[in-house]
Amino acid sequence: MSSREPGGRAFDPDLFAHVLYIDGQWRGAADGGTRDIINPADGSVVAVIDEAGPEDARAAVAAARRAFDAAAPWRSTTAADRVAICDRIADLLERDRDEIARIETLDTGKTLRESHIDIDDVVSVFRYYARLGAVSADRVIDVNDPSIISRVVHEPVGVCVLIAPWNYPLLQIVWKIAPALVAGCTMVLKPSEVTPLSTIKLMHLMVEAGVPPGVANLVQGAGSVIGDALTDNHDVDLISFTGGYVTGTHIAAVAAPHVSKVALELGGKNPHIVFADANFEAAVDAVVTGVFLHSGQVCSSGTRLIVEESIADRFVDAASERAQRIRFGDGMDPTSETGPLVSEQHRDKVEAYVALGISEGATLVTGGQRPTDPKYAAGSFYPPTIFDNCTRDMRIVQEETFGPILTVERFTTEAQAIELGNDTDYGLAAAVRTGDPGRGERVARALRHGTVWVNDFGVYTAAAEWGGFGRSGNGRELGPSGLAEYQEAKHIWTNTEPAEMGWFTT
Ligand code: NAD
Repeated sequence: MSSREPGGRAFDPDLFAHVLYIDGQWRGAADGGTRDIINPADGSVVAVIDEAGPEDARAAVAAARRAFDAAAPWRSTTAADRVAICDRIADLLERDRDEIARIETLDTGKTLRESHIDIDDVVSVFRYYARLGAVSADRVIDVNDPSIISRVVHEPVGVCVLIAPWNYPLLQIVWKIAPALVAGCTMVLKPSEVTPLSTIKLMHLMVEAGVPPGVANLVQGAGSVIGDALTDNHDVDLISFTGGYVTGTHIAAVAAPHVSKVALELGGKNPHIVFADANFEAAVDAVVTGVFLHSGQVCSSGTRLIVEESIADRFVDAASERAQRIRFGDGMDPTSETGPLVSEQHRDKVEAYVALGISEGATLVTGGQRPTDPKYAAGSFYPPTIFDNCTRDMRIVQEETFGPILTVERFTTEAQAIELGNDTDYGLAAAVRTGDPGRGERVARALRHGTVWVNDFGVYTAAAEWGGFGRSGNGRELGPSGLAEYQEAKHIWTNTEPAEMGWFTT
């Protein structure tokens, strides 16, 4: 077991004694299954945890169903009660911030600095939905008849299955949990089997904050084993999924016969467009940060540089020089600027994309080979890699590599830059850098992506919607739309002076 704190433990090992939480009970898997959770920085086992099977997954959904349908159900608690719980969860996250950061870093490989930022972000998401949930969005409609009261009220959608990926384990699941709780839904949480630990810790905090039994349930396990038990399930009203396109479309297909709502937050292949009139140094810094942060394992990573021809050679040289200076290493080491890839399996996938880029004729400028320094030998590290002279038809330009790989394309006109930026099946995020505010606005409006940054990159706020166009998804998280996903609008029409309707003769 890892114990990475000098003279102390990284986290309380009792946290992971039993990790399925169903109907208010911590328990092991029905079939006794377990899984080793690996630290990608050195291959050590961080924890051995219970691994659910389909029977456990169905039990979790059934518990959420009972809690939603019960005689004194969660949905009939007041908004003030639910909001207070969200605020308490935020307080507890702040209390245990350092322990959670260590857990997240040991599990994902990301640097402690990034893990701390993720926790601060999820606290702000709980606080935002606590504020939003305290204000009713119900409406009274004027139908020009004093005997009629016409209202639209918002009710919880029901039992929700919330499925998260491994790159931002805590962050992605909280974007779902906070609005679902505020709306009055019950839920089953399914973190990635690769990075489940911070969600287990969060579940402990939710219990401590007063989330009642059955309202939130947690199952760990491989999507291929328990996924269908969670999603091909008539007791489920909504599935919110963040992950890859193949998994997302499979879930949409199996959920369709149940007419469950399905919100998909999928991948991205995000263009970063740089005009010659942009601040050069700031643009180089943003492009390098935008693609190599978290070793490129970011759905909104700016992996596709589209740069104006007149500055392209100088820009690629500068970006390459900066990329070579990035200090990658163990995320627990405060001098590391970025960590390893999440697993050996994922490094193999990234490596295969590098080989593909070379075979497609792109020019390898820097990186492209596993590090040879023995200090990296036990971890799944991969260096920042840049390919120049890429064309839009290359797979390395069109497919999500989800690693530290930047591809470079060039343009000469604004129209061409927009055309390249929109030449993708995805549409999650894009950025444009220019010294001309008018052009920044024009290009931002023309790009078919869910988020566009002008002269900035990667920032978001809990109050603004996040989601994709095209194959990047069909849902919206954060902002008022992120709460609306978990609500049904119901129209209640009340006639205060009932009389015969007078249609048919009496
Ligand atoms: P993945 O699709 O492999 O897995 C995501 C989750 O789905 C995991 O919890 C996994 O166990 C589960 N799963 C797998 N098969 C399943 C099934 N048949 N039924 C139900 N659940 C199943 O994705 P990943 O590799 O964990 O994450 C990387 C992907 O996530 C990338 O494509 C990335 O762009 C995307 N992502 C998107 C956003 C966004 O905001 N749009 C954010 C983060 C990550």
